[in-house]
Amino acid sequence: MSDPAAGTVSPLDGSTLPPVPSSNGEEVKVAVVKAREAQRAWAARPSSEREAALQALATRLLERRSEALEVMGQEMGRGPVDNLFHDLVSAREFVSAVIRAGRKALAPEKISLSMLDWPGKKVTVEAVPRGVVGIIAPWNYPLANFFKHLFPALLAGNGVVLKPSEHTPRTGAWLWKQCVEVLPKDLVQLVQGGGAVGAALLEAGVDALAFTGSVATGKKVAAAAGARLIPCTVELGGKDAAIVLADCNLSRTVAGVLFWAVHNAGQDCSAIERVYVEEAIADRFVEQLARAAKKLRVSVPGAPGEVGPLQNAAQLAIVEAHVLDAKAKGAVVAAGGARTGPGYGYQPTVLDRCTDEMKAVREETFGPVIAVVRVKDAEEAVRRANDSQYGLNGSVWTADLARGEALARRLEVGVAFVNNHSIAGALPEIPWTGVKDTGPGVASSRHAYATFVRRRTVFIDKNAKPDPLWFPFNDDLMAFGEALVARGLGAGAGVFLKLGGLLGKRVKAIQELVG
Ligand code: NAD
Repeated sequence: MSDPAAGTVSPLDGSTLPPVPSSNGEEVKVAVVKAREAQRAWAARPSSEREAALQALATRLLERRSEALEVMGQEMGRGPVDNLFHDLVSAREFVSAVIRAGRKALAPEKISLSMLDWPGKKVTVEAVPRGVVGIIAPWNYPLANFFKHLFPALLAGNGVVLKPSEHTPRTGAWLWKQCVEVLPKDLVQLVQGGGAVGAALLEAGVDALAFTGSVATGKKVAAAAGARLIPCTVELGGKDAAIVLADCNLSRTVAGVLFWAVHNAGQDCSAIERVYVEEAIADRFVEQLARAAKKLRVSVPGAPGEVGPLQNAAQLAIVEAHVLDAKAKGAVVAAGGARTGPGYGYQPTVLDRCTDEMKAVREETFGPVIAVVRVKDAEEAVRRANDSQYGLNGSVWTADLARGEALARRLEVGVAFVNNHSIAGALPEIPWTGVKDTGPGVASSRHAYATFVRRRTVFIDKNAKPDPLWFPFNDDLMAFGEALVARGLGAGAGVFLKLGGLLGKRVKAIQELVG
């Protein structure tokens, strides 16, 4: 999904943006070395200081938001409301929640051991930062796709190298600048460029990688990380389904489905791209959805609307191809279906009477297109929703919450909703994860820290006597083993007396061996 003019064209009006030079191989290596040098001191700081620094960074991002809104406006073509809500508005609360989840994930864990079996032993499992984490991001949320990994990676004591998408390098550079001004020198580094630079970052010695992007690239990145034996979280594409049941609150469902399908011009891994609606209400649902979709304004220069343009020419081409394919295969265009404006704008589009062989039903569209599939009942809806290579979010819209919950649990997805969709992505205490080609990565929550820390076990033995299983092997050791087996099988109190007696004999035998 890269086009020759990546990052150099305004999606809003087609004007030329100033180019951003790519990093060369040597610069990528230097970035990793510098981040590593700064990381050691950062990891040695008390966690309370790291928490305070991240809060200061979040505050800085909000205070300088007008700069961010401007640069995202240039690169994404979105209006200020869109930019503020999608990428910035809750940065401070986001960091506070990252800190709460981090305190649980990063706290040392004391393992309690039986005094009889493990006398004098003390074990602690600690969270140790990996070192330098590379973060490779897509363009669709040019800040938020970094936030979900940047803050926990830093909180855990890592250095970070950011690699923005070649489509949104300026927003990435703005984020990096804020990091440089607030955090210790060199702790966060920036490299710029396309796929070759992302691949070079993996080869430059990062200790862990957080990747967000397409399935095709994610598979390559995961393979390269596997070859280096470094942990790698991949969060990839989606083709989310919403199941709309006949008993739903129709107006609220239409509003919710429309928003979660079309916000950010549908360029969202967890956008609703397929709707399975029960035949009994399909006519009313489609009519109301199409009417509302037609009222949304696509941004044009000087007049931002609810829907920005597609971010790049390649993405627009995919959207157009999917709509043409659906029309050719019999879909009915109930709303939209055409380009708009001087840039990459595309009308919010509702395709009715879609079928399984259409690209708009099978492949990720990543645009403001809703493919409606009419179904007999909920069973058919669940079966067809699960008939997908992807599995990110899914939702059931119904007035019967218990039934909705049961159906939601049957969806093959990482995040299942009743009467909402996708909103969990904004909540850093909730695991954001998928199945199938969406990838197994977990962003957010304490579960995400597996990428950012390794676990170190520290085992201290305070016992002055030797352990009974040490050499020499003799009949007493065999009897000791048999007594342990008898205990495991539920033998009574007598076995403990026997174990105690054998323990003394074993210690004596070991001392004689080495005495
Ligand atoms: P992409 O795979 O083309 O690019 C993503 C990033 O990978 C870019 O920074 C790119 O330069 C880099 N890259 C490309 N080739 C590389 C290589 N060989 N090695 C290392 N890095 C390489 O994806 P995109 O078009 O930027 O983003 C859109 C995709 O991202 C969609 O499929 C969308 O669903 C997905 N996405 C997923 C999530 C999620 O949470 N699951 C969130 C946002 C976007």
